[in-house]
Amino acid sequence: MHRVVINEAVIKLKITPDGPVLIKAGEALSGIEPDLPDMAFVRTYHGGRETVYLPGSSLKGVIRSHCERIVRTCVPPSEDSPAACDPLFDKLERGGPRIHPKENRVVSCCKWLQDRHRNAGGAETYTQSCFVCKLFGNTSLASHSSFNDAVPIDGLADDDDPNLTEERNGVAIDRVYGSVAGGALFQFEVVTRGTFGTDLLLRNFSCAHLGLIGLALRDLNDQRLLVGFGKSRGLGRVKAEVASVTLRRWARLDSGNQRLVGFLDPSVEERYRLGLSDVALANDQMDLPVDYGPDDLGIDAAKAEGEEALGTLWRNAAQCWAAAAQAMGGG
Ligand SMILES: [Zn+2]
Repeated sequence: MHRVVINEAVIKLKITPDGPVLIKAGEALSGIEPDLPDMAFVRTYHGGRETVYLPGSSLKGVIRSHCERIVRTCVPPSEDSPAACDPLFDKLERGGPRIHPKENRVVSCCKWLQDRHRNAGGAETYTQSCFVCKLFGNTSLASHSSFNDAVPIDGLADDDDPNLTEERNGVAIDRVYGSVAGGALFQFEVVTRGTFGTDLLLRNFSCAHLGLIGLALRDLNDQRLLVGFGKSRGLGRVKAEVASVTLRRWARLDSGNQRLVGFLDPSVEERYRLGLSDVALANDQMDLPVDYGPDDLGIDAAKAEGEEALGTLWRNAAQCWAAAAQAMGGG
């Protein structure tokens, strides 16, 4: 993935449904198991038994598209260094502009890199990708973030009802006539309670990216973004609580022991070695609410937990994001 690790953040997250949530299993599963409803919740094995879970890929998709929304809202599209591409938009004429002149949409970084930077090395691929792809990756650029599956936190799923699910009935509505469609009733399985734990891992991130993730997680908790199927039916509301954030850095900073140095800070020697430069984010550092100290393996780490420390951490990171947005041309 990355040849060198400069910094790392592990965000421990607890997700609790606040109403019915459905992340659908593949069609095949409900076909094979006749007892399952038409739309069954995804399942996996965890702790020796089968359980529902929230796939990391679903969480990543929801957080990524919300980050794109935040970035597009704050920063106008720019031909030179777009803050957020449109990953599904690939209408690019050979040698044409990166922003489609009629549709005013930014061509996906995948398409752009294929067209203009086919033989680019890692550093150029990174520099040419938009701010959002720099964190979440694209087909040419490895992701700097990974989301683990969220599984029920041990001890909370009781044995009688380990899967925390309920069945609901839905009525299929004909989209043209607005009446009940041919097949009529269908069942779907929702999760309504329990707590799911997961880790988000960021690697070689800028402090501005940490700030953006903080804003997206706050919006997830405030239910400004919903997860899974049936959002227009009111499904998908969750509470997302950050339990802790552990930061590690491999670059030394002279200016004290309470600063996180981002991937793009000029003091990071490796930045030059890798050839990664990004003028917009030249001074990428932030103050931390906690001291760095050796963790149980003796590696320098700073762990923020509790409302006060986490509040300060996210506020400081959000300021880095605001500075980056301004540098990219946002207000
Ligand atoms: Zn992009």
